[in-house]
Amino acid sequence: MKILVINAGSSSLKYQLIDMADESVIAKGLVERIGIAGSMLTHKYGDDQKYEIAREIPDHTAAMHLVIEALLDKRHGVLSSINEIGAVGHRVLHGGEKFSASILIDKAVEDAIEEYIPLGPLHNPANLMGIRACQAVMPKTPQVAVFDTAFHQTMPPKAYMYGVPYEYYEKHHIRRYGFHGTSHRFVSGRAVELWGKPHSRIIVCHLGNGSSMSAVVDGKCFDTSMGLTPLEGVLMGTRSGSLDPAVVEYMAMRENLSVTEVLTILNKKSGLIGISGASSDMRDVNKAADEGNERAKLALEMWAYGVKKYIGSYAAAMGGLDMLVFTAGIGENDGPGREKICEGLEFLGVKLDKEVNLSVRSREAKISAADSKVEVWVIPTNEELAIARDTRDIVTGKN
Ligand code: ADP
Repeated sequence: MKILVINAGSSSLKYQLIDMADESVIAKGLVERIGIAGSMLTHKYGDDQKYEIAREIPDHTAAMHLVIEALLDKRHGVLSSINEIGAVGHRVLHGGEKFSASILIDKAVEDAIEEYIPLGPLHNPANLMGIRACQAVMPKTPQVAVFDTAFHQTMPPKAYMYGVPYEYYEKHHIRRYGFHGTSHRFVSGRAVELWGKPHSRIIVCHLGNGSSMSAVVDGKCFDTSMGLTPLEGVLMGTRSGSLDPAVVEYMAMRENLSVTEVLTILNKKSGLIGISGASSDMRDVNKAADEGNERAKLALEMWAYGVKKYIGSYAAAMGGLDMLVFTAGIGENDGPGREKICEGLEFLGVKLDKEVNLSVRSREAKISAADSKVEVWVIPTNEELAIARDTRDIVTGKN
């Protein structure tokens, strides 16, 4: 079965066509600048072959038409008929408290995604547009929603409630939801397999441009660092991570900004870029720090210190730690960053094999020393594959 995975943003649409027979990627691509001048599609297939279409793309339906056109193209396409696509899996940001697993999309599911727009104001409308565009282009093909929040729905109330008056939870659903759930599920699932024992306490550090941590007990999420929105938690590429909420009012007052403007700064101009002034990209921040940029050094210190504190608190929350896992762009590639995070965690039983750690990039590997009490691993994430697997299982009735 061939599955098309769609990740729709407000002005972009990413796709991957996956052959479930061997889980290989047949083609993938990106439609950019939807509804903006200069829109285009970049389609990749085969051994690094690329095909671009620059054309006016007014909306997501037009973008989906273009994706199908690229997939069917006589010279560059990979399908002879649209009917070869067995199902479509959609990444959906916010499933609120309604969805603890992926689900076949029907009217009720669409309504729920719409209902949660206030909780995911940028993403849920785009996700819905992606779903509706696919329905318009291939009305007979089953579609599945895979929620970023679903994996975290097993958190106990003590982990997901905020200490605000209870009525706000009841009236407005204000609580921690957590994000990157598909990645945390994929990576912790593999970690549970590698651990091989019935009881497991695992911390997953998903460290990319957006970063989040999760504490996973016996395969189920127990706590996670992102909250009502993806702003909470560790320092990220452009997001501040957790801070005293009073900072928001104070910044607004001192800089004569609205709350929305402050939130935009905390989401888009803070974190690594805000502190270093150099870049939001970890490779650039590393380079700037190596060249002696003091603020880049500070950003790295803050980043590693913040992640370390989460590891300590989650180990305490779970009553111990069996496995510590690094994933996503930074987690999979940045050996020195991983070393910095693990420095001083020997008291918890974390002992890296420093040489092995520095040699591991983008591949699954154990990076802890033979005598480390806690196993430390790099496990590459693959959200698209996780979405495709769920989609297959749901349409074939396995789930
Ligand atoms: P997202 O999916 O959240 O956009 P990714 O998971 O792709 O992000 O991670 C992007 C981050 O990974 C960037 O900060 C990038 O600099 C970092 N990264 C990629 N390769 C390396 C590397 N070799 N060393 C350090 N950081 C790296």
